[in-house]
Amino acid sequence: MRALVYHGPGRISWDTVTDPAIEDPADAVVRVGATTVCGTDLHILRGDLPEVKAGTVLGHEAVGEVVEVGRDVHHLRPGNQVIVSSVSACGHCRPCHDRMFGQCRGGGGWVLGNLIDGTQAEFVRVPFADHSTHRLPPALPLDDAVLLAEVLPTAYEVGVRNGEVGPGDTVVVVGAGPVGLATVAIARLYSPRRVIAVDLSAARLEAAVRMGADAAEVPGRMIAELYDGPGADVVVEASGEPEGFVLCTRAVRAGGHIAVIGTPGRPATLHLESLWRKNVTISTGQVDTSSTPWLLGLLRFGRLRVSPLVTHTFGLDRVLDAYEVFSHGATSGALKVALRRE
Ligand SMILES: [Zn+2]
Ligand SMILES: [Zn+2]
Repeated sequence: MRALVYHGPGRISWDTVTDPAIEDPADAVVRVGATTVCGTDLHILRGDLPEVKAGTVLGHEAVGEVVEVGRDVHHLRPGNQVIVSSVSACGHCRPCHDRMFGQCRGGGGWVLGNLIDGTQAEFVRVPFADHSTHRLPPALPLDDAVLLAEVLPTAYEVGVRNGEVGPGDTVVVVGAGPVGLATVAIARLYSPRRVIAVDLSAARLEAAVRMGADAAEVPGRMIAELYDGPGADVVVEASGEPEGFVLCTRAVRAGGHIAVIGTPGRPATLHLESLWRKNVTISTGQVDTSSTPWLLGLLRFGRLRVSPLVTHTFGLDRVLDAYEVFSHGATSGALKVALRRE
């Protein structure tokens, strides 16, 4: 098959590799119908994740058709359309029993496109397939469905739920990339007083308004008013920049929540000298994808609209072009790029 192979920092190519096969009785093999590129893939490409070895097929989000299942897979059969979660779950360890699949100690967690071959390929082997996939209803567009593999659960679980967004809240989302924008859309389901998006890119600020932000700005007047005034009830850090985290700590109100989603490549400063008196709760987290069925229901019944998040669609064999466009998102206006089997 053809697959996007990582060859070390700065080097990826669209190669011919051996087709994946069932290696464990709990595996399934899925023919990829749609996949995407994640900001984490760009971190890998920059060499920020040394555990990713040269020769690994990248990608950890997909939807597709099951073509083969191991003998211990009971809930899937060839022909089923599925969402392949970015997080695999053994289903039996303590974290899995607590639905913290991202922390799975039985061989799951984030392994696809990280420790094992991933989804930017014609086929992918999915470990613990019963616990790591979700059946896809026929009417859902693939470009929406692929967002259920990681983007939407991350925005909900790590941003909105950890931040405890509630009715009447002022919510600030710092960083209007795909996950930040999904956070804006999901936060709106909770009847906040207002949602303010902050980013440095004009294109992304426009996208934030399209996704339902009441206001969007480069850090300026509104953020200054929060610094000097009552502050925001919930501030979600989705930029991955240490400066974004500092902004969050200044914009939050006393007793408020800071929910950190972004993955900083550099250390961020925690200003305890000014925060200690504010009763602030700071949460971090890796997505568990435990909320995927709930989010799937919201999409199916039209309660959540996320189509504007996919700005570019490519054939799977143009994955290198997709990386190029996605990596210049702040200027190209690219948010999420979808790669489709032609
Ligand atoms: Zn990702
Ligand atoms: Zn587990």
